[in-house]
Amino acid sequence: MTILGASGSIGTSALAFLRLHPDEFRLQNIAVNSDWKTAVEICREFGCGAVAFSDAAAAAEFRKNPPGTPCEVFEGPGASATIASMPVDVVLAAISGSAGLPSVVAAVNAGNRLALANKEPVVCAGRALLELAKKQGVEVIPTDSEHSAIFQSLLAGKPSEIASILLTASGGPFRTSTLEQMRAATPEQALNHPNWSMGNKITIDSATLANKGLELIEAAYLFEQDPRTIEVVVNPSSILHSAVQFRDGSMIAQLGKPDMRVAIGYGLSWPDRLETGVEPISLAALGALQFEPVDVERFPCLGLAKASLASGTGGPLLFNAANEIAVAAFLKGRIGFMDIPALIETCLELGGNRFAASLDDVIAVNAEALTFCRSQLMARAD
Ligand code: MG
Repeated sequence: MTILGASGSIGTSALAFLRLHPDEFRLQNIAVNSDWKTAVEICREFGCGAVAFSDAAAAAEFRKNPPGTPCEVFEGPGASATIASMPVDVVLAAISGSAGLPSVVAAVNAGNRLALANKEPVVCAGRALLELAKKQGVEVIPTDSEHSAIFQSLLAGKPSEIASILLTASGGPFRTSTLEQMRAATPEQALNHPNWSMGNKITIDSATLANKGLELIEAAYLFEQDPRTIEVVVNPSSILHSAVQFRDGSMIAQLGKPDMRVAIGYGLSWPDRLETGVEPISLAALGALQFEPVDVERFPCLGLAKASLASGTGGPLLFNAANEIAVAAFLKGRIGFMDIPALIETCLELGGNRFAASLDDVIAVNAEALTFCRSQLMARAD
């Protein structure tokens, strides 16, 4: 198997899962951005045959400090796609953001089964990516906790029997904050997620609920659903990971501790279930499951994501690009927390559907969209 984004949060959880099952999986290839020290450790421990670095300087450091086992090194912007196209039984796509787009497209083109934790490639490329997967006979196993929950719930019925999809959100660190508090929120506060331990980008996305917007778009594409049939509800404890309501009135849900190892484990071991090291939940100890609606005033990103779907395939791509630019600027202290939805709104208003892409040009179009959103950020700062 291959892990794209092996040094990140999902990659680290995946390695913990692999350590439990040394006879079931062989980690052959990894891709990391620049963390060469972690890459050396992973290659030494798992005996990987190939490693990719986006960062050429990191690849040079890796070569100076080899793991002691034979390992081919690739570097540069195309390196993760090269690694992703090497034939394996499964590729775990766990790069953060649209940076994962080239490698996910490469994995599908090579016919590698995908455990998909990286949602942005589907958001940017839309149904075209999933059609290609179908054509190539590539199984796509959703490995985000919500989409894994929906995927598992769907085993209980047929696609034609779905009445609606219930996508749950934790509500993030600002669930009970006032709009005023959110306007003044610092990156430190926004990075303090109550339930999930994740990378910085997705943790900010969870605080704005842009993550839920991206997940809604991904769910609409993955499960071929009209976005109007996808309802978002807040479950503050993140125990109910999502559910499917069937037309006979049955709701089937997947529940578990908020620990990514469950979704990662299922994504890698599907159609079997293996131990993940995650404790079972005790409903008696939980006592109650609380639910509440999303406050659309304080969390406009969710509505913006839904609206972006209505403007064509270019809308979600632009929503994601604007969000990536806005989050990076917020983390650097250049804009405020509520400027994130404001910038996304401006970009969507001005950009509309002009970044609609085909699978052949989606990587280039995404780069153009990021440039467009960066210029809107500059205009805003002036
Ligand atoms: Mg999720």
